[in-house]
Amino acid sequence: MRIVRFTTGEDPQYGVLTGDVDVHGIPDEGCVVVALNGDPLYVGVHLSSKEYALEDVRLLAPVLPRSKVVGIGKNYAAHAAEMGGEVPPEPLMFLKPNTSVVGPNDPVFYPEQSNEVHYEGELAVVIGRICRDVPREKVADVVHGYTVGNDVTARDLQRGDVQFTRAKGFDSFCPLGPWIETELDVSSLRVQTWLNGDLKQDGSTSDMIFDVPALVAHVTSVMTLLPGDVILTGTPEGVGPMEPGDEVEVFVEGIGSLTNKVVRRD
Ligand code: MG
Repeated sequence: MRIVRFTTGEDPQYGVLTGDVDVHGIPDEGCVVVALNGDPLYVGVHLSSKEYALEDVRLLAPVLPRSKVVGIGKNYAAHAAEMGGEVPPEPLMFLKPNTSVVGPNDPVFYPEQSNEVHYEGELAVVIGRICRDVPREKVADVVHGYTVGNDVTARDLQRGDVQFTRAKGFDSFCPLGPWIETELDVSSLRVQTWLNGDLKQDGSTSDMIFDVPALVAHVTSVMTLLPGDVILTGTPEGVGPMEPGDEVEVFVEGIGSLTNKVVRRD
């Protein structure tokens, strides 16, 4: 099932996207969004009688993290190497504020404090229930689904600051979407990033050093996760700069494509 959050110009609603999505993540013509009654994370999936053609709605970030986005650094060996570092012995955690989240086709604002803003295409895990100390064999019980994320990073600020907070925490630095896929085996999915149509990252989740069950177990051994919280699982090799005017697309096999444009704030 594909869960969307959308607007038709009124208050945001949740919905289920029906119809097929092709191997490139593009919905077939005729896909319909069936509106849900309430937030599925709180009340479950209850279809309403309202339907909209996909082209008549604007998709929003499919989830608003209740408390946090947990990022994982250097979770692909080739990316750790291109960053000039070793693979960490345990998952390397950082936080992005939930105010960094934006949706598909929303602008990513290039901050004036940086001269080097990078894309990082990633698989994103959406948590479905309050949880703590989740053993890896129970992780499936607490995962609502998966979406596509872009862990936008001001690389120059990341190098200069000890903490990642500023470099990864700007408003609009966490595009998520286009929807949440609730039934997906994420053990071996292609993760690609395209910049202005050029392929820049081409990895597989099978190359993660710590897999999704390991990440959820590790994060929840430290902090409680709330419904709607998100874990970004790390990026494959091939990170690089984006400039104002660029269009960045992150594709995760089995989910879809998340596209955003980089703009300088007026
Ligand atoms: Mg990242």
